[in-house]
Amino acid sequence: MSVENKVEEVQQKVESLDIKNDQKQPKQAKKAKGDKSSKSSGGLFAETYLSPEPEFIAKRDAKFQEILDRYNAEIAAKPRHAIKIELKDGNLIDAKAWETTPFDIAKEVINPTFAEKQCISKVNGELWDLERPFEAEKEGETLKLEFFDFNTDEGKRVFWHSSAHVLGESCECHTGAHISHGPPTDDGFFYDFAIKDSWETENPGLNVSQNDFPALEKVSQDVIKQKQKFERLVMTKEELLDMFKYSKYKTHFISTKIADGESTTVYKCGKLIDLCVGPHIPHTGKIKAFKLLKNSSCYLWGDAANESLQRVYGVSFPDKKLMKEHLKFLEEAALRDHRKIGKEQELFMFNEMSPGSAFWLPHGTRIYNTLTKMIREQYNKRGYQEVITPNMYNSKLWETSGHWNHYKENMFTFEVEKESFGLKPMNCPGHCVMFKWRDRSYRELPWRVADFGVIHRNEFSGALTGLTRVRRFQQDDAHIFCMESQIESEIAGIFDFLSYVYGVFGFEFKMELSTRPEKYVGDLETWNGAEAKLQSALEKSGTAWEINHGDGAFYGPKIDIMISDALNRWHQCATVQLDFQLPNRFDLNYKSDKSDGYERPVMIHRAILGSVERMTAILTEHFAGKWPFWLSPRQILIVPVGVGFQDYAKELNDKLIGEGFYSDVDLSGETLPKKVRNGQLLKYNFIFIVGHAEAEEKSVNIRNRDVIEEQGKNATVKFDTVLEQMKKLRDDRRNDNLLV
Ligand SMILES: [Zn+2]
Ligand SMILES: [Zn+2]
Repeated sequence: MSVENKVEEVQQKVESLDIKNDQKQPKQAKKAKGDKSSKSSGGLFAETYLSPEPEFIAKRDAKFQEILDRYNAEIAAKPRHAIKIELKDGNLIDAKAWETTPFDIAKEVINPTFAEKQCISKVNGELWDLERPFEAEKEGETLKLEFFDFNTDEGKRVFWHSSAHVLGESCECHTGAHISHGPPTDDGFFYDFAIKDSWETENPGLNVSQNDFPALEKVSQDVIKQKQKFERLVMTKEELLDMFKYSKYKTHFISTKIADGESTTVYKCGKLIDLCVGPHIPHTGKIKAFKLLKNSSCYLWGDAANESLQRVYGVSFPDKKLMKEHLKFLEEAALRDHRKIGKEQELFMFNEMSPGSAFWLPHGTRIYNTLTKMIREQYNKRGYQEVITPNMYNSKLWETSGHWNHYKENMFTFEVEKESFGLKPMNCPGHCVMFKWRDRSYRELPWRVADFGVIHRNEFSGALTGLTRVRRFQQDDAHIFCMESQIESEIAGIFDFLSYVYGVFGFEFKMELSTRPEKYVGDLETWNGAEAKLQSALEKSGTAWEINHGDGAFYGPKIDIMISDALNRWHQCATVQLDFQLPNRFDLNYKSDKSDGYERPVMIHRAILGSVERMTAILTEHFAGKWPFWLSPRQILIVPVGVGFQDYAKELNDKLIGEGFYSDVDLSGETLPKKVRNGQLLKYNFIFIVGHAEAEEKSVNIRNRDVIEEQGKNATVKFDTVLEQMKKLRDDRRNDNLLV
């Protein structure tokens, strides 16, 4: 694993490791020292601003000013070379090194409204503070300049990163915190910190709660009102160690992340000075809406062996309207949360005896099996062959596949009769063993091997969430061993397959092609050939696609498929990955069609649902628990209007079950309205009410889950007719829930 991967992994651990639930009631709030007030709203500190202010704030500021004066003098002495700035449209603008800023160009050359909207710029590909002067060593240099507003990924990240500083400042000012780590996330930002008493007395008993949010938000609003500038300053490691010697967290970052003799940057905004490589928005006044959303505890550095810190999550926007929309979205997402619906509908459960491995309850298992049944039907039609392969393999196999060197940390490993074994995190090596089992000929290719094998990956317990981040899962995994000349048609076949499956769910999708990175295995010609074939297949697919240059895996180019759900969230589930390496490592060959010799097959890894667990989570939220009939674990509920009609109800139920439907009959002593209500809560697609007339006519009175206007004046239809209509609805896998 490379160093960058290592750093990324640590960051990921830090970001994902919550250990306590934020919804829990806080411990009895303990009054902080110096707290004389009795008007506390339940927060830890009565005053908005801790008084007296923590000593380290003023000390840190004095050091900053001292070094800033020296730094400014250095910058002032730099020669103001004439340079050229090249805009995205190719326009060349005159500028001065160490003086002109990207903001100047945006304002004067483009227009002031445009300038005010930008979050960040890029200079020669490097993210650059809008108010940081261009730097150039030589006269006449040309620098490329780009701008990013909040609607771009770059702009959003910088905006939320900057907002994390605002939160950090409030944590220091309100709780006297020592702050640790505060990154942007996909939907906002957070900051980890130790409140005053915990770092002073190592008293871990103080937990921040939502009662502290009003004060933290008040300080944040003040920070925003003051339009505090983000000031950048380069400092040496020694200076940094001195400036941050009060904090063991910052000291740890500096000593472990910065090499001796090297420098890095700090940024000051208002009272906060934080170790940070930046960049940021020009000032805090750009934030028009700021809200804290939740809190939790987390482990320092994401390591469960360390002390626990407080974490507060927030979100911010450059426009109040965006905040309103976001809060509405969060509300809707919470209602659809698969963990909530999974519990209400009794689909799956978890138990601390096996973290990250779902217990699929009977109704969840129905969904699971219906999904895999659909894929199996398609395998049959599309020339795939299903196999079953082992779960644990000797480490020798993982050495051959390369997993032992590159992936071991993500695997569960153990000893069997003094040899090391590992649970499979992927099915591919097993399929290579199968391919190699006997002599293979070109006549057998393409060989499409499918496997729903159980996979285990060693995720940190703190990172596990519902069905989306698990340790145990199954994929609709398949590997296609083929000749180079078959790549394009195989890819086209996969596109057709996934269009079918995503069409059934009603997902829109887009594709992204990632091409050869700088470091790669295999020869250049093979890569170029394969990439051209993938591009050609993408063009013919008629689906929107983009290219990510240099983003492929070192062993082959890949296509990621992104689906968009009912809340317009993008998820990556399917992948198509070409692999020139694994067939080499396993020395796979087939008898050539061109000569007497042997040739090496290309391997294509592909999955459409991806992890069945994760897809179930996405589908639960996409459908908000209102399952389409074909996938529904509760299709029909039969409710007799009185005891006299129980036999007729049971007769229908038996018939429906015999036809493969998931049908139940409610023979409880509840009232009719209560029975109907229960059926509605459990989201049965149809409730059949049967009484005297229905039993006479062999009919049912239908309540359709999705057709509200029919409530109360429901259709009574002959049972045989309904049966045929339901078979059609199921077998056509329609999502409309209409009996026609
Ligand atoms: Zn920063
Ligand atoms: Zn694979």
